[in-house]
Amino acid sequence: MDALWKNTTDLPDYESLKSNINVDIAIIGGGLAGILTAYKLKEKGLNAVIFEADKICSGTTGYTTGKISLAHGLIYNYLIDNFSLEQAVEYADCNKKAINEYEELINKENIDCEFEKCSSYLYSALYDYNLKEEFKAAKKCNLECEYLEESELPKGIKGAIKYKNQGKFNPLKFVKHIIKDLKIYEHTFIKEFDEQNKLLTTDKGYKVKADKIVFACHYPFVNSPGYYFLRMHQERSYFLICENKKKLKNIYLNVDEKGYSFRSYDKYLLFGGEKHRTGGNKEGYKYNLLREKLKTFDKNYNEVGHYSTQDCMSIDKVPYIGLFSDSLKDIYVLTGFNKWGMTSSMFGSDIIADMISNGLDNKNSIFCPSRFDTKGVAKSAIKEGPYSIKGLSKEFLNIPNTELDKLLLGHGGVVKYNGKKVGVYKDEDGKCYIVSTKCPHLGCELSWNPDEKSWDCPCHGSRFDYMGNIINDPSVENLEFIEKKQ
Ligand SMILES: Cc1cc2nc3c(=O)[nH]c(=O)nc-3n(C[C@H](O)[C@H](O)[C@H](O)COP(=O)(O)OP(=O)(O)OC[C@H]3O[C@@H](n4cnc5c(N)ncnc54)[C@H](O)[C@@H]3O)c2cc1C
Repeated sequence: MDALWKNTTDLPDYESLKSNINVDIAIIGGGLAGILTAYKLKEKGLNAVIFEADKICSGTTGYTTGKISLAHGLIYNYLIDNFSLEQAVEYADCNKKAINEYEELINKENIDCEFEKCSSYLYSALYDYNLKEEFKAAKKCNLECEYLEESELPKGIKGAIKYKNQGKFNPLKFVKHIIKDLKIYEHTFIKEFDEQNKLLTTDKGYKVKADKIVFACHYPFVNSPGYYFLRMHQERSYFLICENKKKLKNIYLNVDEKGYSFRSYDKYLLFGGEKHRTGGNKEGYKYNLLREKLKTFDKNYNEVGHYSTQDCMSIDKVPYIGLFSDSLKDIYVLTGFNKWGMTSSMFGSDIIADMISNGLDNKNSIFCPSRFDTKGVAKSAIKEGPYSIKGLSKEFLNIPNTELDKLLLGHGGVVKYNGKKVGVYKDEDGKCYIVSTKCPHLGCELSWNPDEKSWDCPCHGSRFDYMGNIINDPSVENLEFIEKKQ
């Protein structure tokens, strides 16, 4: 099993776009953000059409852990320090409202998506200091939480914060209900955006003329204006799906470096972690590291599947929700959810639906995408810079010493071939798949991910399979395939 939600939910199929069309509102992307935005617009009597490159929920939404929580790691202390108490409270309130909205909507529409109220725990196995500071900050933001001392916790845990009234659900069962009255085109990849004419072009060459456009395609593929590529990267995590006799009532997140996450669903335990910046897994063995870790909690687990997924990380840890750019009228964006897209999609879709229906902006909101003047942005920009420079230039100057024949069966890597630097995957039969290592998005040097047999971009997170086909945005082009060699 490689994805729990897809295995437990059949979503309907939709046709692809087969002609040019005019629409009131075009939504690019059929993940939770795009679907909830279309749903909220429909509730306001506005007509939106979703254009999805693949199948709906085939992106990160299909692989989420499905925690509906405002316990987003050590966030509130950071927000008070880098933004202001007022803006930290806005962040907390929006997430609180989103949790309540899920509960109300699920009850009102009688949606069978196994929604359960629960507590959300943040814990550390290393230090209690950061958690104590976070607890004080959460209290300042009026959040309902309590601090648990080492003596009250299982052995090896230094401290924890318990947030009450959080939730968990099966996200695809939820989506299956709310898409019922929405207009959706699947297998319709938007490749071009003409900002002057508000015109989209699909990979098959069909034109979509829209009055308003919402980018809900995870990482926007438009580089300028907006410049999201300068203020967002992607982070990947790995998950084991295990059958487990012990059902966990609550949801858990470790705030230490590896970011371990736990939740139960039906007879399964989802255990994840080993996070890293996309493109930063040259050494591999992430699933084995997870297995070793899980054994320290439960020796008798029975693994039935595994998968990995990634999300967009904004430069200042706050999502970008609002106008795509100050210079573009009627174009909106929801992105940079920092692995908290369940609540962010819920309140983010309210923000966008309100902006579209009443024409106001959200300039003073912490979520406004054109914010640039906080301490958080300045500090993070200093950290982000070297990644782009490394990815864009230095690596290209090195021609590796490794030759094609030195590569082991079932392995991939960057090698020298005909005097040039190329990327190669050698399968178990010795067939070599040779591709360029230059990312078609902005030209960064790709790196091999041995756990997923993919070429991953360390700058912005585009990913390609070993044949060079796109797996993850923001690239809209496949990798240059050089040759297959026996
Ligand atoms: C390991 C991990 C665990 C997580 N767990 C949680 C959790 O427990 N709780 C929580 O709140 N959040 C969680 N998240 C975050 C959450 O899952 C995501 O933020 C959310 O699913 C993103 O939704 P989305 O609609 O923005 O993106 P997606 O679900 O990726 O949807 C975007 C869609 O756009 C389509 N698309 C892309 N480009 C184009 C194009 N050019 N044309 C047309 N379509 C296009 C894609 O095919 C895709 O279907 C987790 C994230 C990760 C990585």
